[in-house]
Amino acid sequence: MDYGLWIMDYGLWIGIFVIDTGMIVLSGHYILNLNGTQKVSARLNIDNSYMARALELAQQAAEAGEVPVGAVVVKDGEVVGEGFNQPISGTDPTAHAEIIAMRNAAIFLNNYRLTDCDLYVTIEPCTMCVGAMVHARIKRIVFGAAEPRAGALQSQLQLMDGDYYNHIIDWHGGVLSDHCGAVMRDFFREKRK
Ligand SMILES: [Zn+2]
Repeated sequence: MDYGLWIMDYGLWIGIFVIDTGMIVLSGHYILNLNGTQKVSARLNIDNSYMARALELAQQAAEAGEVPVGAVVVKDGEVVGEGFNQPISGTDPTAHAEIIAMRNAAIFLNNYRLTDCDLYVTIEPCTMCVGAMVHARIKRIVFGAAEPRAGALQSQLQLMDGDYYNHIIDWHGGVLSDHCGAVMRDFFREKRK
């Protein structure tokens, strides 16, 4: 993955980009006024960059023969936990990417509550993982591709629409969804061979 920074026109225009396998996954720009103190316009697609990292983790799961799902936990712009799906190699039915990422984040932050943390995951989470995210007090979930069979946010269940939880998590899906879905399709196509 390549990272870069453009600074042009004596500070009038600043852009940043991240390129992964030829695809710009993060780009943003700030346009400053003439004295450079006032930010006139800002647009930064942060979600794509964290999802790109989750995709790298999903690839690690695939290489280990596990269903390729990756997840990262982010707090204040810093990745505090990462994980990929590993129930088979971990002999652990709960070892979904999101659970591993939250465990690592909780250890890193030394707190069983992941307050003010965002969780990025390549595939729409299942009931177990959404439940664990509620326990952890995750602030926001961002997922890549929808999971029509077992997705618990929009596809099969809409757990965050209920009033039975004591914590509701903002969520949105569809971030780099084509790439996230392709990793899954490639994995199962390869398995069927
Ligand atoms: Zn799960």
